Amino acid sequence: MKKHNFSAGPCILPEDVLKKASEAVLNFNGDNLSLLEISHRSKPFVDVMEKARSLALELLGLENKGYKALFLQGGASLEFLMVAYNLLQKKAAYLNTGTWADNAIKEAKAFGEVLVVGSSKDKGFNYIPKGYSIPEDVDYFHCTSNNTIVGTQMKTFPKTNVSLVCDMSSDIFSRQLDFEKFDLIYAGAQKNMGPAGTTLIIVKEEILGKVERHIPTMLDYQVHIDKDSMANTPSVFAVYVSMLTLQWLKDLGGIPFIEEVNNKKAALLYTEIDRNSLFKGVVAKEDRSTMNATFVLTDENLTATFDKMCKQAGINGIDGHRSVGGYRASMYNALPLYSVQVLVDVMQELERTI
Ligand code: PMP
Repeated sequence: MKKHNFSAGPCILPEDVLKKASEAVLNFNGDNLSLLEISHRSKPFVDVMEKARSLALELLGLENKGYKALFLQGGASLEFLMVAYNLLQKKAAYLNTGTWADNAIKEAKAFGEVLVVGSSKDKGFNYIPKGYSIPEDVDYFHCTSNNTIVGTQMKTFPKTNVSLVCDMSSDIFSRQLDFEKFDLIYAGAQKNMGPAGTTLIIVKEEILGKVERHIPTMLDYQVHIDKDSMANTPSVFAVYVSMLTLQWLKDLGGIPFIEEVNNKKAALLYTEIDRNSLFKGVVAKEDRSTMNATFVLTDENLTATFDKMCKQAGINGIDGHRSVGGYRASMYNALPLYSVQVLVDVMQELERTI
């Protein structure tokens, strides 16, 4: 039986998607060739790329609104650099809500002045800074919607006239937002969208072309737009599985449907964390992530027992990030509510056992 997979990424993918993906590896479109053997320039693969790009825009409600979707390589980490390369002329504002935001800030500093307008570094990033202001004269404001490592999530986004750039790697397609407020969104595929190996970038074309520096070809968003996300050989398998996952989400009812399920999963687990005196949440309650729930045991001596019980119940991937320890249950779109119930049952069983 399949394990209950709470892995933080790469992570659980829908069973149906995995079946279709494995079929395509052997025989794509009934054409007696593997998806991995055909030219990326062939019509069957160009159709896959175009469908993946249009599904991404459609699910976010960004079709025909001046946005382009790209599937590139280099992970979300390369976007830390590309965003600054393409958009930072003089000054940019960043919100520091975690290790990934911190990495984005480090990359941007090579291109101009970086104002960190808010930071929760002082408390191990266990909350989302509030009440900060964004100067009018910056080229853009960059934030990270969900801190995958510590488990905080931005519930609101600032009103600003400057371009809004967001790393949505760990919560894209999980909740309804006014996506039109954003000018550039990026996300590594390996959480809510597909396997590792491709990054989705959604960019409003009008914000490009304003920096004076020379941008190397492969780091230039405009080049990728002009080449329909095929400036070089794309990650064919990652793009195909992303397309299947986006289609799966659309068939289910899109973001409004999955958001309800995600809220139910998060409520179930956080209610137990708060009720059960053997467990304690580690971040500010109002900023808790619906995707990554972090918690610790109040008595560390119970660690071995709890870990063993989780293993016996088929629970996988709830160890906290290596930099913070404790536990982290990641509840991405494809994780069923039932898996969360199994985890909650184990937490209650631990309470009965001691
Ligand atoms: N941003 C966030 C919010 C992440 O969670 C991660 C990876 N877990 C990254 C960026 C880095 O992504 P990648 O490994 O694709 O470079």
